[in-house]
Amino acid sequence: YAKNDGRANFRFYSAEMTAKALENIKLEHDLREAISKDEIIIYYQPKFDSEKQVIGAEALIRWNHSELGMISPAKFIPIAEQSMLIVEIGRWVLEQTCEFIKSFTNLGIEPVPISVNISGVEFDRPDIVNKTAEILKRTRVNPDFIELELTENVAIGNREACIERMHQLKALGLRLAMDDFGTGFSSLSYLQDLPLDVLKIDQHFIRELETGINSQAIVRAILALADGLHMQVIAEGVETESQLKFLQDHQCKLFQGFLFSRPIPANEFVKLLLGKEQKNHLGLGNV
Ligand code: C2E
Ligand code: MG
Ligand code: MG
Ligand code: MG
Repeated sequence: YAKNDGRANFRFYSAEMTAKALENIKLEHDLREAISKDEIIIYYQPKFDSEKQVIGAEALIRWNHSELGMISPAKFIPIAEQSMLIVEIGRWVLEQTCEFIKSFTNLGIEPVPISVNISGVEFDRPDIVNKTAEILKRTRVNPDFIELELTENVAIGNREACIERMHQLKALGLRLAMDDFGTGFSSLSYLQDLPLDVLKIDQHFIRELETGINSQAIVRAILALADGLHMQVIAEGVETESQLKFLQDHQCKLFQGFLFSRPIPANEFVKLLLGKEQKNHLGLGNV
């Protein structure tokens, strides 16, 4: 009987999986051409300090598919990773971001650091350091303004190799951030060996601040940890005033989330920076 059950289940799942697999094959096929068709766009989500001044941004890609409309990265990044297209996409995002930062100087705007997400698939490639160096050199951006966001899961492979690679990336003059911190598997002793500049507290903990005593304890612990390890810390996914209040009451100083701003197109981000410059010139900045 078990065997029959198994077959029935298999048939059921397999129909569903075929539809999904077909969809993925189509998406992978279309993704190959998406960059050259200008369908991939970068939005920038501003990051803020306690005075609500813009202190940076995160580059986040969007896919504006010609038939299917906007597709979220949660859907197409895994496909890009499986097909290795993420390597090409990642380089493109970094290069565009470098050019974007350089354009600030041309507009007379003081640059702010912008972070770019690096998938584990990209980080695992032996040429990641050389390729990154090449893009920095070609675009002649000041690497102080580029931050790479890695997740904890990149760091669970070969520890020594991973630490070494992170040091090589740091040696290019970049900043390194640990994204989605608290959701992965890295141990605290490992963390102290990583040349990180920033911990990004995962949104999950921020979302549960109002309801979960555990999340409050975890967020407090991460803030203390970052302080002790002399790393900056930024809260991701801040949506409400009460979340912000809790964070500020516990000495969190940097914020990213819909309460402050959603990810916005490049031109809107430039406007935001121009507004900040103006305030500074009028002597209204940082009051
Ligand atoms: P992430 O790097 O953790 O980026 C933060 C995500 O949280 C973004 O989703 C952002 O829009 C969303 N977010 C920010 N503030 C809030 C908030 O207050 N509330 C809510 N509900 N969400 C908020 P997005 O843009 O959909 O990106 C999802 C993930 O896709 C990213 O998570 C990142 O892992 C990946 N991703 C995006 N762009 C790239 C890229 O260029 N390369 C790679 N490798 N991954 C990328
Ligand atoms: Mg990120
Ligand atoms: Mg994150
Ligand atoms: Mg994420």
